[in-house]
Amino acid sequence: MVKAVVGANWGDEGKGKITDMMAEDADIIVRFQGGANAGHTIVNDYGKFALHTLPSGVFYHHTTSIIGNGVALNIPVLFQEIKSITDRNVPMPRILVSDRAQMVMPYHILFDQYEEERLGGKSFGSTKSGIAPFYSDKYAKIGFQVSELFDEDLLEEKVKRICETKNVLLEHLYHKPLLDPEELLSNLHEYKEMVEPYVCDVSAYLHQAIKEGKNILLEGQLGTLKDPDHGIYPMVTSSSTLAAYGAIGAGIPPYEIKQIVTVCKAYSSAVGAGAFVSEIFGDEADELRRRGGDGGEFGATTGRPRRMGWFDCVASKYGCRLQGTTDVAFTVLDVLGYLNEIPVCVGYDIDGEITTDFPVTAKLEKAKPVLKTLPGWSCEIRGIREYDQLPENCKKYIEFVEEQIGYPITMVSNGPGRNDIIYRKSKFSK
Ligand code: GDP
Repeated sequence: MVKAVVGANWGDEGKGKITDMMAEDADIIVRFQGGANAGHTIVNDYGKFALHTLPSGVFYHHTTSIIGNGVALNIPVLFQEIKSITDRNVPMPRILVSDRAQMVMPYHILFDQYEEERLGGKSFGSTKSGIAPFYSDKYAKIGFQVSELFDEDLLEEKVKRICETKNVLLEHLYHKPLLDPEELLSNLHEYKEMVEPYVCDVSAYLHQAIKEGKNILLEGQLGTLKDPDHGIYPMVTSSSTLAAYGAIGAGIPPYEIKQIVTVCKAYSSAVGAGAFVSEIFGDEADELRRRGGDGGEFGATTGRPRRMGWFDCVASKYGCRLQGTTDVAFTVLDVLGYLNEIPVCVGYDIDGEITTDFPVTAKLEKAKPVLKTLPGWSCEIRGIREYDQLPENCKKYIEFVEEQIGYPITMVSNGPGRNDIIYRKSKFSK
């Protein structure tokens, strides 16, 4: 059976924790999109880890971790990451890399930096990991597939050709040092040596695994609102963040995805620029940021402070709908225990009209939040394992949110650890 774990919002919803938890019953975990630009934070028996490229299943002995064809594969980063976990006594995970995955090249990272510099104040807030230049090249059909590392003639010719094009831009647009084809080729030879033992025809492997009834988990990065088509374009990422893309980015039939767990955080946070309707500022935001997540809401990859806001029912309802949600995992609820009252965004006021439908970006920029304040529960809920034992106001908060978004909250996460989870029945379950 294939299941997907994806985000409803701007990312950082706690997908890593939910994937790590669900990976206990999985045989295979697949990353199907994105790159090393964002991270998952995972807390387990080995300690606390920030993963960027590796799937969140790498901490179990029984799982195979796959880098699917949809991923932007940065080979040195992948191997540093493997080292960073094995250095901390995690056994070497079983890893497979799709022969159809494309590679982030050293110049993608440079172009990302140069373009942000060139745009100055009008930049997109890129993490400068080369992701946008990588996906641009992939779709311009000048990217490098892992399989191409194994064809030396093709590689030499292609490296020369690509350097010629890139050097025009470097010289005339960015005024930066030119690429040396020899150096690039030798980088690629190193990449080949590193990755060779792991290269696999992943779609064939997964086809067989599905036939054998294996449990496969597709792990998404970021969330619906960062999807290039359905998100807050252009302040989006460069690959689709939707569960539907899991089929493409892993190489499996779409109808095999039977469960879609959409992760929603009990309040909002976002990184980078772009409209964020329920955003809060000042002391109120600082306090939530400091108390948020597990040790504060700061980017797992960049350390950047995240922008903070109240839970946004409009964005989350939309986020869940586009994912094709079968289950909502409602996370980081424990953090809200310090509040006597909790505002929730229940609608958008756009030019005097109230809507609960998430609009296109131009309208989103004008939206003002319609807030409803719910009573808080003012106590610690970590450690609770049964839904009925949650404080009354806490259950009311969950049920209010569920009613607003219209998708079943079947998991409530009340702490960063694997066991901090409460399962519940929902009237919205099919
Ligand atoms: P992801 O990218 O969606 O996996 O999210 P991140 O890992 O960037 O951010 C989630 C943060 O919240 C991490 O620091 C997690 O350890 C933490 N976390 C996840 N679930 C919970 C929870 O239920 N309660 C608390 N307090 N922290 C959580």
